Amino acid sequence: MRSALFLLFIFCFTAQAKVVLIDPGHGGEEIGAVGHLDAKKSRKIFEKDLSLRLSKKVKDRLSQHTSAYLTRSMDRIVSLQERADLADLVKADLFISIHFNSSTNAQSHGFEIYYLDNNSNVATNKVERAENLNLKGEEHTVNQILIDLVVQQTVVHSRKLATYVHEKVKPVVKSFNMSDRGIKPGLFYVLALSKRPGLLIEAGFVSNPKELKMVNEEKYLDQMAKGIADGVLAYIKDSKL
Ligand SMILES: [Zn+2]
Repeated sequence: MRSALFLLFIFCFTAQAKVVLIDPGHGGEEIGAVGHLDAKKSRKIFEKDLSLRLSKKVKDRLSQHTSAYLTRSMDRIVSLQERADLADLVKADLFISIHFNSSTNAQSHGFEIYYLDNNSNVATNKVERAENLNLKGEEHTVNQILIDLVVQQTVVHSRKLATYVHEKVKPVVKSFNMSDRGIKPGLFYVLALSKRPGLLIEAGFVSNPKELKMVNEEKYLDQMAKGIADGVLAYIKDSKL
């Protein structure tokens, strides 16, 4: 009995010891995409604020079961390299970057999950460019050798993590009548620099007024956070990380 309890303790300890780093996209002067809640464009919503709100909710849910940290907990600028360095500092096992999408086509809508891999899709390239920009609007440069190495080491795990998160998020997407744009490979530098299995989540389009109104609601952010956290936890459990 005693040894069974001891084993249970060991199991619980190892199950809880996994570290997830949640990365709210953008911050400070780097506002990310901008959406407008009204036609007069007087009520602006910034991607940096939405991503922080959703990230905090994901972190709170994960913290009930495992170790979770944020790359920023307030509205401040953090470079992609600093975000990646934090992954080393907290010894993160998984890295989840949270963003909201934008398009010049105001009709574009939906939810999508990216994992780090090479791709040649034109639509994905646009998202990559938006998320890989620095404050001056220039694209960060990341060594292709590093990217290839990280892809090689993480792609199997990241793809699997994406399927777990997608599975738990699917019912949420459906309940909000959102379009499910699925799982895609993408070259996101923050994922390459973090050197860990991870995802970049685009949790809706701020450039679509109808979708912006919806994703700005606490109800949406709560349920989406639950879906993401449940997916990450299911992956941790099944992968015996
Ligand atoms: Zn973004």
